Amino acid sequence: MSAAAQQTTEAEALAAIRFPGYSFETNHVFQTDHATYTRLQPFSAGIQVDRQVVIVQPYNGEMRVMGLLPPVSDLITSLVYTEACIWILQNDSWEAVQMSTQTDRHGHDRTDVFLNEEGDTISVRSWRSYFGDSTVTARVFRPDPITVAEAEYGGDLVDNNDADDPVLNSLRSLVTVTATFEDDTFFLYDTFIRLKDFAAPVQPVAWSLTPVFDAGRGDPAFEDVNTLYHLQQCRNWLVSLGYEELCSFEIDIDTHGADGADNSFFSSGGTPSIQFGEGGVDDAEDADVIIHEYMHALSHSAAPFSNTGIERRAMDEGYADYLAASYSLQWSSYRWQDVFSWDGHNEFWDGRTTDNDKHYPEDNSLNIYAASGIWSGALADILESIGKENTDKLVLEALYGSYDEMTMPEAALWLLDVEDMLFGGLYHEEVFTILDTRGLLPSTGVQEQQLYNISFYNTNAFADGTGPLLIITDPGKQLLQMFDMSGRMVSSFCGEGPELEWMPPLTSGSYLLTVTGRTTGSTMLIVK
Ligand SMILES: [Zn+2]
Repeated sequence: MSAAAQQTTEAEALAAIRFPGYSFETNHVFQTDHATYTRLQPFSAGIQVDRQVVIVQPYNGEMRVMGLLPPVSDLITSLVYTEACIWILQNDSWEAVQMSTQTDRHGHDRTDVFLNEEGDTISVRSWRSYFGDSTVTARVFRPDPITVAEAEYGGDLVDNNDADDPVLNSLRSLVTVTATFEDDTFFLYDTFIRLKDFAAPVQPVAWSLTPVFDAGRGDPAFEDVNTLYHLQQCRNWLVSLGYEELCSFEIDIDTHGADGADNSFFSSGGTPSIQFGEGGVDDAEDADVIIHEYMHALSHSAAPFSNTGIERRAMDEGYADYLAASYSLQWSSYRWQDVFSWDGHNEFWDGRTTDNDKHYPEDNSLNIYAASGIWSGALADILESIGKENTDKLVLEALYGSYDEMTMPEAALWLLDVEDMLFGGLYHEEVFTILDTRGLLPSTGVQEQQLYNISFYNTNAFADGTGPLLIITDPGKQLLQMFDMSGRMVSSFCGEGPELEWMPPLTSGSYLLTVTGRTTGSTMLIVK
């Protein structure tokens, strides 16, 4: 058996122990410089469950299981239709329903439609991540004309309905872009970033017989070169950080799409795609919009089809705003925290900023764009504390751990784990303090349901046989179970949290210890 297949089998076995009654199939296996991430699809009674489980196997450290599944008993009490094919959470109960997946003729948009026994649609889920803005005209620059001029929107710096303008054109920078030369013509695409005209309005992608694309901001070709340039720059940066795998997917881009509407969006179908709208300031004139949408694509690449749940989706927007802000800082520190510096913060709409004091849970809401500020704000604070490069790495690695319905406190604890994986605790204090200040860690703030992180101590002494395992968890009842590597339970113990000591008699070998409490659950590899 290959190493990869071995790891997949171990991950499936670990998940089966952690979630009794479920079986698992491996959807994706990702490897970074720091860990292997195995994404599993759970099944109960042969029926798919609308959740994912992620097994993180750091190269130095303990395996962990991420994601939550309902007890199998919750599924059994639900109504099972004859042609059911997926369990979904519907009005607080898990129901087995039919699902049909539709993609548009270009293979871009994927929509899941859920049907009841009678074949009536009961819910629809679109895998589009919108950037809902309300802006107008613009020019395109590095990263945008507002930042280059170090000015506020207004005066000479206005959209003016996408008209060519000597002042705005003077704010363009001379850059080099990688294009494709084919049959005597230069085309605007590379191996990964493919500019196409696949959505209305009809606006063919610019091409040239000479290696020069000198378009004024009023020329549709300007959005084409602007988009390709910023995406290439962003990719180069990710590759330099060691995340080449993450961004090595083909993506189709229509810089004049979205039916001409005033928004842009990423779609995760067979081929990922982005459409930029032209309402207000043309979206593709602002690097913040371009990088924001690309981050949705990166997030999808690391954690496919898991962007569900209000807080999870708010964090996806937060990650996208963070990367847009961080990318701006590459060119200038002027108002770098303003997101959509040119596209927003103007007569069309207010834009957003990572320079905010939003706090969890008070500023969390059903409006994912408003709530996203909690997450993007915390990440920007971390950047100011430990630097752009370190924070970018932290964020890129963290994407792999995202799962359906992930909450912000769960993601905050995961971010601390990622810090430990990448930097060995060097920046733990800084990251902890910032997340804590934002109300994202369990020790602060008043939350209805506290979240606890399970910690294991004294594992070395236990391995030597000189002391018990020490487990710190939530204050309620805890079930401790020890399994051998064949999945057989060899010892169990029920105790009262938050501090538990346990010294089961074991022969030498590797074991999996699972701790299950009311609010927590964790699995750890124990060596005796
Ligand atoms: Zn978005």
